[in-house]
Amino acid sequence: MTRWGMVIDLDRCTACGACVVACKIENNVPFSSPDEASKGRAISWMEIISVKEKESNGFKISFLPRLCFHCENPPCIRVCPVGATYKNKEGLVTQIYPRCIGCRYCANACPYTAKYFNWYEPEWPEDMKKSLNPDVSIRTKGVIEKCTFCYHRLVKAKEKARVENKDLNNIEYVPACVEICPSNAMYFGDLDDPLSEVAILSRSERAFRLLEELGTEPKVIYLKEIKNER
Ligand code: SF4
Ligand code: SF4
Repeated sequence: MTRWGMVIDLDRCTACGACVVACKIENNVPFSSPDEASKGRAISWMEIISVKEKESNGFKISFLPRLCFHCENPPCIRVCPVGATYKNKEGLVTQIYPRCIGCRYCANACPYTAKYFNWYEPEWPEDMKKSLNPDVSIRTKGVIEKCTFCYHRLVKAKEKARVENKDLNNIEYVPACVEICPSNAMYFGDLDDPLSEVAILSRSERAFRLLEELGTEPKVIYLKEIKNER
């Protein structure tokens, strides 16, 4: 079974935000008013987090794209009282929206703050409604949502492979953020295939996982920036 994972090279990422926008458009993530955003209620499955690091001659700000890490050992799943979040057969952490009772236990359990609660019914400007993605369901007020690694794209790719009688190991599937990144800072593929690009990069000396000490085993791996010694 494929173990889907992502590698993000922080040395290539320019924090342009293209991945954030592509994710929103692909997954019908609603816009929020400035008032709701100021209350911390904006929904953004992909976010660029800024990290302030002390250096010998002052401080340096680094940027880090953050999505759901589809942990191997996800704490969010353990706390859900109704089984509305689970790891599917592809190993992706998934939400069942109609089952969610909105208790937000999972959002609090996620150490990466990757889960978002819908505080209000989603809204889009009238002229944007026709561009909503029909492959992705719209979430309603009162449920939790988060990045799915664009799971609908995997479903479509598998169907295409079946119709074209192609090997499932060679299906073309990448999430929207990876596809759009103009700096080629994001890689996606099978972490269990030792020859895949993601597997090779994940073994790099620059590779690290966020909060690894928690034992969550994230399937999103970062590559450290290369320090400029000048
Ligand atoms: S908010 Fe929904 S998915 Fe999260 S723990 Fe509660 S019922 Fe489960
Ligand atoms: S990153 Fe958070 S929401 Fe995603 S699987 Fe891990 S604990 Fe769950």
